Amino acid sequence: MEIELQDVSHIYNEGNAFEKVALKNINLTIGENEFIGIIGHTGSGKSTLVQHLNALNLPTSGDIFVDGINTKEDGQNKRNIRKNVGLVFQYPEYQLFEETIYKDIAFGPGNLGCSEEEIEERVKWACKMVDLDFERAKEVSPFDVSGGQKRRAAIAGVLAMKPKFLVLDEPTAGLDPKGRDDILENINNLYKEENMTIILVSHSMEEIARLVNRIIVLEHGEILMDGKPKEVFARHRELREVGLNVPQITQLMIMLKERGMDVPTDVLTVDEGERVLKEFLRRSKC
Ligand code: ADP
Repeated sequence: MEIELQDVSHIYNEGNAFEKVALKNINLTIGENEFIGIIGHTGSGKSTLVQHLNALNLPTSGDIFVDGINTKEDGQNKRNIRKNVGLVFQYPEYQLFEETIYKDIAFGPGNLGCSEEEIEERVKWACKMVDLDFERAKEVSPFDVSGGQKRRAAIAGVLAMKPKFLVLDEPTAGLDPKGRDDILENINNLYKEENMTIILVSHSMEEIARLVNRIIVLEHGEILMDGKPKEVFARHRELREVGLNVPQITQLMIMLKERGMDVPTDVLTVDEGERVLKEFLRRSKC
């Protein structure tokens, strides 16, 4: 199964004074078992792009195929696309509305026509995947829990649809560091243990560098770069030109290199940086 975008453009308010070209001629294939990070300046088209992946938004021109089905199709085909591609919006907790967390998570599978038994099984699984207490979820209102738990309940609601592709638009925005780390760990487990394909929009280069295996950089609605994290972050000058940074540890290594130290600059995590610097010190002593 794959998602294929062919020459996709999207124009908001076409033909009137508020016309805005948000996506321009995007060609992209997303395969199974990928973990993709989407980065770009505010307004570069990230949200518009991901909202196209489950047919929430449709191309003004071009086509998108999910498992061979054009997102412009209606009826059962559209329902199948929504089932296969789960989209977690920015601040998804604003869409919680049921009396209990259980009922909120159960809403999607209920709509899919699952039996009560199947619904309960899915809610249990989704709670487990985001570290929510299943028994408590039956009792407690989504409005009476912490911000991090609200966010996880909302993500569980999408997971309960058992999508093959999980798209998350800034899932850690506005959370404290602990809430952020918990959700990132949950997402990483969905990729590693449940073999879900993950598409993550994020402003944090640290998050992206630590998790994903492919990065897509958007700029003015176009794909500026598409490659492995090391390839993309190696183009740090171009990234800076469009207002994007590289991870802090990469910045440090680039700075050391510029000052004449013989260190690699394709270091993306603090652990890797520590190893590289120890090796550098060991060599310097010899
Ligand atoms: P990003 O997620 O990278 O911040 P968006 O996809 O939200 O970018 O926006 C891309 C462009 O489209 C921006 O110029 C934004 O102002 C515009 N835009 C986004 N949503 C709408 C909308 N509903 N109506 C009109 N313009 C929009």
